[in-house]
Amino acid sequence: MVQPELVDVVVLGLGVGGEEVAGRLTEAGLAVVGVERDLVGGECPYWGCIPSKMMIRAANALAEARRVDGLGGTVQVTPDWAPVARRIRAEATDNWDDQVAVQRFIDKGGRFVRGSGRIDGPGRVRVGDQIFQARHGIVLGTGTRPSVPPVDGLTETPYWTNRAAVEVEELPASLLVLGGGAIGLELAQVFARFGVRVTVVEALDRVLAVEEPESSEAAAAALRADGVEIHTGVKAARVEHDAAGFTLRGTEGEEFTAERLLVVTGRRAHLEELGLDTVGVDTSGRYLPVDDRLHVTDRIWAVGDVTGEGAFTHIAMYQASIVVADVLDQHRRAAGGADPSGTASVVGGAVGAASSLAATGSSGSAGSVPRADYRALPRVTFTDPEIGAVGLTEQQARERGINVQVGFTRLPSSTRGWIHRTDEVGFIKLVADADQGVLIGATSVGPAGGEVLSGLVVAVHAAVPLTQLRHMIYAYPTFHRAISEALRDLS
Ligand SMILES: Cc1cc2nc3c(=O)[nH]c(=O)nc-3n(C[C@H](O)[C@H](O)[C@H](O)COP(=O)(O)OP(=O)(O)OC[C@H]3O[C@@H](n4cnc5c(N)ncnc54)[C@H](O)[C@@H]3O)c2cc1C
Repeated sequence: MVQPELVDVVVLGLGVGGEEVAGRLTEAGLAVVGVERDLVGGECPYWGCIPSKMMIRAANALAEARRVDGLGGTVQVTPDWAPVARRIRAEATDNWDDQVAVQRFIDKGGRFVRGSGRIDGPGRVRVGDQIFQARHGIVLGTGTRPSVPPVDGLTETPYWTNRAAVEVEELPASLLVLGGGAIGLELAQVFARFGVRVTVVEALDRVLAVEEPESSEAAAAALRADGVEIHTGVKAARVEHDAAGFTLRGTEGEEFTAERLLVVTGRRAHLEELGLDTVGVDTSGRYLPVDDRLHVTDRIWAVGDVTGEGAFTHIAMYQASIVVADVLDQHRRAAGGADPSGTASVVGGAVGAASSLAATGSSGSAGSVPRADYRALPRVTFTDPEIGAVGLTEQQARERGINVQVGFTRLPSSTRGWIHRTDEVGFIKLVADADQGVLIGATSVGPAGGEVLSGLVVAVHAAVPLTQLRHMIYAYPTFHRAISEALRDLS
């Protein structure tokens, strides 16, 4: 019988959220074991945000060069994927090697264990034949994996997920993208700009269906301008693959063919793998429900995509800060009585860290541990134009029975939009609660839509009164000045 090793905290899954929690708790002096079965850092640096944004940066440079005609001369553009593939290997992923990240955690004093971990009763985690008993608790940051729809024949084919799309060294001549959400659209536009014949197939009646309908139209128009074919309302029924490539058939007899098929139809948390049944947690849901301090149950926290609160790196990092504050608060309270770890030096460091947080008011006693609040959750789809959004859409606000007011302005009618020659698709849309006199949602679409969004995030987050927003000074001629026009339209 293996003797459990006593530690303070076990973090299962060192993706964006888990790595942050494990690193910060270690720095605070706790004895932390971090368990990762794949690469420390998770999806974002190796197959998600970072390499995909490198691809987008390159594709946008091509598109921008193609815009020189008529503005300042002529440019001949010859796309070449090789520098993109090289940069992803050399700068983003170290050729999918996480040694630097592992060493960073070890240098902080963390104990790193490579392997698949599983809860094995209260406070206990098993990784292979190692068992750890966590005094303070377990943090789950186990993320999600691509969810593949139950389409006949699909699983027997060599379809791509985001991982293969990021790792590709030679582009196919044609690509079918199953799924018209943010990731599908971003990748579709990239590959189209590099000369791939791209077709997007989406089951719902519009792409980017979680955002405003105007955003869906903008995204579809921009991709079509890049030569992407978009088919909405198509339910995939069957996929076949042979030497010539893929054939996707829809339930209404539609047929699409391409050399490659990329499946980006959402992601799924694999809760059944985590041993949560041994601590009485129900795993029948799609995600792991958490309270506003990210507790799953007593002494188990969860962060990131596995919580289902929004599949974004900034959500994982935000939640990680709350978990760190909560664990340190619990640690300080335990240390206030008996020494919970039995190692005074370890406790001393952590108590010091927790106490200084309390003194600055950013954490401290349970009452002041920050609570998660997703009202002003920002989301950016990094197509060109960028589609930034925060808070509620107009429809979501109406469904909640809010007295909604909408303000809208098109970017080309702003001075900066006109100078820039933005495509017709850019706009600002504001959703206000007329009774409260504040913004509860906003969308910003344009060449810098994600950046323009920041002012709107502040407005929603801090519930800045509309009267104050109207009396602000907006620099001329910026893209964000269009917000003042949309505010005028509100009234
Ligand atoms: C193509 C793409 C583009 C994206 N672009 C953006 C973007 O621009 N902006 C943005 O904010 N977000 C973006 N995202 C989303 C972002 O990558 C995720 O929100 C983020 O990675 C979530 O972090 P996480 O820590 O929850 O999970 P993950 O990053 O998925 O990490 C979870 C880790 O847990 C490990 N693990 C799981 N189970 C176990 C176990 N039992 N034992 C040990 N280890 C385990 C996994 O191996 C993994 O490394 C993108 C995602 C994709 C796919």
